[in-house]
Amino acid sequence: MKVVVIGAGLGGLALAQRLVRAGIDVEVYERDSAVEARFQGYRIGFGGPGMAALEGAVPARLHPLLDAVSGLIEGTGRAVDSQLNVLEEKERDDDEGRMFDRNVLRHLLIAGLDDQLRFDMKLDRYEELPDGRVRAHFADGTTVDADVLVGADGMGSTVRRQLLPHIGVHDLPVYGAIGRTPIAGFEHLIPGWSTVVSAKDVQLMLGRMVFQRPPVEAAAELAPDVRLPDTPSYIRWVLMLPGAPETLDLQPVLDLIEDWHPDLKALIAHADTANSGVSPIKEGDAVEPWPTRAVTLLGDAGHPAPPGGLGANLAMVDAEVLTDKLIAVRDGRMDKIAALAGYERTMCENAKIGRESAARAFKNLAKLRAEA
Ligand SMILES: Cc1cc2nc3c(=O)[nH]c(=O)nc-3n(C[C@H](O)[C@H](O)[C@H](O)COP(=O)(O)OP(=O)(O)OC[C@H]3O[C@@H](n4cnc5c(N)ncnc54)[C@H](O)[C@@H]3O)c2cc1C
Repeated sequence: MKVVVIGAGLGGLALAQRLVRAGIDVEVYERDSAVEARFQGYRIGFGGPGMAALEGAVPARLHPLLDAVSGLIEGTGRAVDSQLNVLEEKERDDDEGRMFDRNVLRHLLIAGLDDQLRFDMKLDRYEELPDGRVRAHFADGTTVDADVLVGADGMGSTVRRQLLPHIGVHDLPVYGAIGRTPIAGFEHLIPGWSTVVSAKDVQLMLGRMVFQRPPVEAAAELAPDVRLPDTPSYIRWVLMLPGAPETLDLQPVLDLIEDWHPDLKALIAHADTANSGVSPIKEGDAVEPWPTRAVTLLGDAGHPAPPGGLGANLAMVDAEVLTDKLIAVRDGRMDKIAALAGYERTMCENAKIGRESAARAFKNLAKLRAEA
């Protein structure tokens, strides 16, 4: 059995790691020219089943490295006003999760996949063949055939647009300036695991990404064959604003916080600009199970939710569930279509949890804004 995965994001890579270990033939095709091709670095929190599924995807020999480059979730979540007066302080209900930098994690999940991963391969479309297999057509004119094609190609998924053309993705009535600033000198802004600054119409969310050990140093000692980016510990910040961005420039957005506390303005002014930018915040329609074929979806492609929707956690769980089903097909215990149908039911059920989580997060933020 041959599995072709479109997209080398966290979800596609987690699936590839698991399939390689199971001895299933897998190839991953990524449109970017390299792992560092564009803005990739923000902080992602994993907990509960998502964290367990992440650990299950990463090869056991790399678990000490995974642990070393994680950030702990400690202390309180704090709400402050634009002059840093504390409005509210909350303990976290569950404190078993870990924080990861997406870019560092992606490098870790790529480890050992040299033979499976191909960059500069943008999928244009797929074709279902009469024998039940699928042919992937790439922008460079090449094709590859598979028994199962997995669209792990993110929120704007090309695979989903062909498979489920009725599913739309739209901009929410808010947009974000997302960035990061090295934490040195700014620790006091975020004494716990998060700080939310609320003012009328503008909200700034700060999250701490403090690596337990610097990634390069940890890799050199724990797994010298793994190349991790030289990323210093940082504060991830997201400025949320109502409406749609008029421009994708950062400056007009920063002008909106002109009268804020000087330390907050300095935090944004010292941003790592290569990893900061302005964009609309998007959400897709809910995906319900569809008539199953040899093409399926995983991660944001299958549950396009905005940040707050547990997207990376769900992608890890998808990879675990799908691998179990594909092993059952390979071993002759399940028919391919029945196995994929079972996976898709579970994926769609889990997606509801993600949508509810995102809705809760956006409601809480709106409440803080209204009270500001
Ligand atoms: C600021 C921010 C904070 C977040 N925080 C959290 C968090 O705390 N917890 C959490 O669980 N989630 C979080 N998320 C969501 C999480 O990052 C995503 O859900 C997750 O990364 C999705 O992974 P994926 O593999 O499905 O898709 P992606 O990471 O989008 O990967 C898709 C890949 O497919 C490639 N691709 C696209 N089209 C094609 C094509 N036609 N051909 C070939 N390749 C293609 C892309 O280049 C990309 O590499 C956050 C998101 C943001 C933006």
